Amino acid sequence: NKQIVLKEYIRGYPKESDMATQVSKMSLKVPHGSNGIVVKNLYLSCDPYMRSRMTKSTAVYVEAFTPGQPIVGYGVAKVVDSGTPKFKKDDLVWGMTGWEEYSLITNTDTLFKIEHTDVPLSYYTGLLGMPGMTAYAGFYEVATPKKGEYVFISAASGAVGQLVGQFAKLFGCYVVGSAGSKEKVDLLKNKFGFDEAFNYKEEKDLAAALKRYFPDGIDIYFENVGGKMLDAVLLNMRPHGRIAVCGMISQYNLENPEGVHNLTQVIVKRLRVEGFLVFEYYHLYPKFLEMVLPYIKEGKINYLEDTAEGLESAPAALIGLYSGRNIGKQVVVVARE
Ligand code: NDP
Repeated sequence: NKQIVLKEYIRGYPKESDMATQVSKMSLKVPHGSNGIVVKNLYLSCDPYMRSRMTKSTAVYVEAFTPGQPIVGYGVAKVVDSGTPKFKKDDLVWGMTGWEEYSLITNTDTLFKIEHTDVPLSYYTGLLGMPGMTAYAGFYEVATPKKGEYVFISAASGAVGQLVGQFAKLFGCYVVGSAGSKEKVDLLKNKFGFDEAFNYKEEKDLAAALKRYFPDGIDIYFENVGGKMLDAVLLNMRPHGRIAVCGMISQYNLENPEGVHNLTQVIVKRLRVEGFLVFEYYHLYPKFLEMVLPYIKEGKINYLEDTAEGLESAPAALIGLYSGRNIGKQVVVVARE
């Protein structure tokens, strides 16, 4: 069983060499008396929060990885053997699995059975999985949008951002996104239907750039990056605006995170700034599927994946998130069934 492991806890930006491939023996049968399942991993998801598990820290909401053990993350897998009536052989599932060819999953509470297989299975690492639910919960539940409102999204071409933008457009909002390259900006405007988009790396004055796109201010900011962008947004919010704080990827690898300087705007503009974690919203998953599956079938949602082939490509794919190498949702193909 080929596996990707974290060698040691890290500091700063992760590198490919912080992870290693190893091979270990594994039984494809569930141990006697266990109510877990053995799965064959098909698609693995690279997600920004995984960086926080590469360091031992009390300041995060997930446990650190165990060095020498396979990295744990979201994925799509096929059941090979089952010790629980919840799943049977050949069922397809998405949820927490290991960065390895086969995994024994002892806690099956975090797994969802895949019922709809008339869409690409890899979608369950993104659009129909955790990032899709994040976009849905963050936009509809946290940002509480109203038709016609002005919405700004950072890291807009990524897994979560591309979906938030499209949900917001379908809802009837005016939507602008920022991303880190010309290619991504073109995608936002031409593939995902954003009203406007800009490359934040080319803007010397982010507050002035936002003023250009939102002369009357921003009602909703879907926050994915933090740092300087958040400061610039605070200066451009409209009274009673809402900031759905989803992520702050610009800060995850810094030993000393940057300060935020314009927080008094929260008072001046009477803003609601609300952080959220997707796993508190998984009870809405059936409602989410009810909305999003028809959108996919009717061609109302476009979805872009960046696919890395083979388990060995996973470390490079993961670290690519922190330099913006991925264009769309970063997926690793371990096996296609
Ligand atoms: P993406 O697919 O968007 O990939 C990450 C992107 O972030 C990169 O492609 C890059 O795009 C951008 N980025 C990287 N470094 C920086 C930086 N220093 N400054 C600005 N942008 C940067 O990831 P996801 O869509 O999966 O995740 C987006 C955000 O949502 C993350 O912050 C993540 O932690 C958060 N999240 C939160 C969840 C929750 O429950 N609260 C659940 C899931 C995700 P570019 O080229 O545009 O710079």
